[in-house]
Amino acid sequence: MMEREPVPWKKGPRLCRDRGRFLVENPSLSPKFQRLEVLVMREIQQKTASVPELFGSMVFNDQVMKARLPKETYRALKKTIENGKSLDPSVANVVANAMKDWAVEKGATHYTHWFQPMTDITAEKHDSFICPQGDGTVIMEFSGKELVKGEPDASSFPSGGLRATFEARGYTAWDPSSYAFIKENTLCIPTVFYSYGGEALDRKTPLLRSMEAINKQALRILKLFGADDVTRVNTTVGPEQEYFLIDRELYDQREDLIMCCRTLFGAKPPKGQELEDHYFGAIKPRVAAYMADLNQELWKLGVLAKTEHNEVAPSQHELAPIFSNTNVATDHNQLTMEIMKKVAKRHGLACLLHEKPFDGVNGSGKHNNWSISTNTGVNLLEPGDSPAENAQFLLFLTAVIKAVDEYQDLLRISVASPGNDHRLGANEAPPAIISMFLGDELTEILEAIENSTDYSQKDKTEMKVGVHILPRFPKDTTDRNRTSPFAFTGNKFEFRMLGSKSSISGPNIVLNTIVAEELSQFADVLEKAGDFNAALNDLIRTTIREHKRIIFNGNNYSDEWVAEAERRGLLNLKSTVDALPYYISEKNQALFTKHKIYTATEIHSRYEILLENYCKTISIEALTMLDMVNKDIFPAVCRYMDALSATVLHKAGVSSVISSKAEEARLKKLSALCDQLYQANEALGEAMRKVPCGCDVKAQADYYKDTVIDLMQRLRTPADELETLTGKTYWPYPTYSQMLFSV
Ligand code: ADP
Ligand code: MG
Repeated sequence: MMEREPVPWKKGPRLCRDRGRFLVENPSLSPKFQRLEVLVMREIQQKTASVPELFGSMVFNDQVMKARLPKETYRALKKTIENGKSLDPSVANVVANAMKDWAVEKGATHYTHWFQPMTDITAEKHDSFICPQGDGTVIMEFSGKELVKGEPDASSFPSGGLRATFEARGYTAWDPSSYAFIKENTLCIPTVFYSYGGEALDRKTPLLRSMEAINKQALRILKLFGADDVTRVNTTVGPEQEYFLIDRELYDQREDLIMCCRTLFGAKPPKGQELEDHYFGAIKPRVAAYMADLNQELWKLGVLAKTEHNEVAPSQHELAPIFSNTNVATDHNQLTMEIMKKVAKRHGLACLLHEKPFDGVNGSGKHNNWSISTNTGVNLLEPGDSPAENAQFLLFLTAVIKAVDEYQDLLRISVASPGNDHRLGANEAPPAIISMFLGDELTEILEAIENSTDYSQKDKTEMKVGVHILPRFPKDTTDRNRTSPFAFTGNKFEFRMLGSKSSISGPNIVLNTIVAEELSQFADVLEKAGDFNAALNDLIRTTIREHKRIIFNGNNYSDEWVAEAERRGLLNLKSTVDALPYYISEKNQALFTKHKIYTATEIHSRYEILLENYCKTISIEALTMLDMVNKDIFPAVCRYMDALSATVLHKAGVSSVISSKAEEARLKKLSALCDQLYQANEALGEAMRKVPCGCDVKAQADYYKDTVIDLMQRLRTPADELETLTGKTYWPYPTYSQMLFSV
């Protein structure tokens, strides 16, 4: 196995050019790594100098539209974008043509409807712009019809029984609220994806519906507060994305990483994250070059990549963009994940987005910073400067409190995945119990409101909604608790349970919808109220009283909290399979259908897709383990035992007085572990042959959770121990130390 220390820049790297890119040839690296692509600082600086020019250069954004569309068309399109109005077909033709001209000038030859099926990645089917002229020539063409609607074959995407295989038709439809962009010579048009029967087959359609729902209900509330100038309410999101970077050569040698994106075997390295020397540590040159290149690519696509730093685990990093409207943030997070992987490849690296690539070191998640804001620029989760603004803030805040308490199950489900099951509750991420952190100050204020008592010792006045000015909550007093799954951070909530690999769409669909529901209930009460202020006070007070059990400002990682949460009656849905059945409960179906997020059929189809995805993931992992043991691990250990046996025999042949105790003892141990390995392998193989089929998918998921996962662990244990005892040259895979410390 190749062993390598990261070499600092100063050891004399030499510049060279390769296919138009600057590379570093570093004589102090081994020849194999010499030509690994590392962008030199000169190139980074050159590019960085022109960031404003570079930013959004591959996006058909507002500026481009304004410059390239006739005034009328621009205005019509803008209305569609801002208010979700439908677009006239004649307008679509003009837009399509302008888009095509712009894209062709930028070197694009193809276009695609870019959509988000129920997988973790985006889908695209490319068509070229060429249109034959009958004389052997072509021109580049793109019609409004092609822009607005597409017809990809839907039969190979997850549909949860929505689309029988004989009805393969699926449609994509343009979502003008997210800008088109060029990626690899292809004009990508963000679209929704739905079946012949009109059911959503993707993650974008319900997200857009949920944005509509919260817009509608929030506007009702704002009207009651006299905010007549507001015509649109959007939610905003800034997702912080964690990831691992490891050397590509090592990655390529691991079947588990290639097939499952996580290691299924691997003994603990002598050093993990215990020294806590990686978090916010200096970024190594190779990683810095990767990040610089990644930023360039993201900026071109209009992604507001802003913050980057090392994370807790070795080789783990984070990227956070500046927040944007939830629909755009979701598209951009998908793009970010895709580009992260692509850029890694050209730097000789592999980017791991799985929630738990390495056992025993922290896995990766995403923090979903979420807020609600108006088109007049007001953040509705920010305390205001006047009593009226504060009353409004408190109402939105209590709506979120009530929503999180009543729909703990949906929030939990929205982050449920086999990968995230490894993290939640494992003392590296919040537990599977949903609770909210508000900070002492805000909690005290709410208590004062609930009990009509004094808020502060200094100021002996009764805390009244709509009468008092709230203090601003500085970020440092609200952001101290890093263990909370759902924390108020001064002017937004940070939902911290998301897995790193999943789309952020699901959690935001739930957040938007459950808050829309509470706002609609509040509006129902307040619209009828005779005395608005009295009704408002009463509503806030009773809501706090009824839902304060969800507020917890303490350590979420402690055992005491698990017991306390149980006393409070909060849900603790430990695994994906435990959580999913709640998805189709009557309460949740009523919620989704009331706000037109999903039809009952769509809910059931998604439930099936999630369960199927769970089963498939565990199945692939189990089969990969069997393959690795049968083809690599077992033969490797046998070879090593063979070598040891040969040594024993050779020694005995030379002289009977030469001791072979060490070899024999090691052989004995290896042999015993090998027996264990073999038995566990047979047991897992047998279990995989007995997976219940033809029955309902929930029973199958239960089987994977209760039987298969346990057997996988039983196979891993002897294998990992064998790794520690087998000679380095015999072991077939790169070790944890190599993977975690080589970049
Ligand atoms: P942390 O301390 O958790 O690292 P940061 O201050 O770096 O948090 O910000 C985290 C994210 O929150 C960023 O992506 C930022 O853009 C986002 N954010 C800030 N304000 C809002 C808001 N009003 N709505 C949504 N996201 C926001
Ligand atoms: Mg954060």
